[in-house]
Amino acid sequence: MRIGVFGGSFDPPHIGHHALATAACDQLELDRLLLVPCARSPHKDDGPYLDGELRVRMLEAMIAGDARMEVSRRELDRPPPSYAADTLEMIAADHPGADLWLVIGGDQLPAFPRWHAIDRILARCRLAVAGRPGVDDETFGDAAAAVGAENLDLIALDPLPVSSSAVREAIAEGRDPGLMLPAGVSDLLPRP
Ligand code: ATP
Repeated sequence: MRIGVFGGSFDPPHIGHHALATAACDQLELDRLLLVPCARSPHKDDGPYLDGELRVRMLEAMIAGDARMEVSRRELDRPPPSYAADTLEMIAADHPGADLWLVIGGDQLPAFPRWHAIDRILARCRLAVAGRPGVDDETFGDAAAAVGAENLDLIALDPLPVSSSAVREAIAEGRDPGLMLPAGVSDLLPRP
């Protein structure tokens, strides 16, 4: 069994998340991809802006129709901060013998060596990293060297310059974030 673990704030989920999730399933030939919304990210000072239950419903709308993908409540159901090392150990215990990948966008790779307990993370899984605009080759190469090429798989992904912050900004400014959101997610978005 090949299982990917894709964590994030998903605040809200957008087409970049969907593209990365789909590319990870296709290219890593995953049987299952678990999308794990965090309770509170250790990498962000505040937030999330949207309630956890709403983010779950939005993720479910995003992945509807793709039987490989599933939303996991592993982080929402325990007190924050949501450390990936703890989550991966729980998921490994849920699926004994499975091959695990932690899926991250390329913008996260430079900081990955400073994540909490990366030795525990890399003991449980390989890292699958996609490109993202704004990450130059040198930064990417340095970080990849720090993690170790043997622990790393690359996911080819056409850059989609979209972020949850851009969606939140559009809403705050009264613009329609429509095209940044996957089908079904837009309908669930609270509008001022
Ligand atoms: P924010 O703008 O609030 O910081 P975000 O758009 O970066 O949010 P997160 O939920 O923090 O979204 O990201 C979860 C994961 O998805 C991270 O690994 C991140 O690198 C990846 N990701 C987010 N946006 C994209 C994108 N446009 N293309 C590829 N990967 C992405």
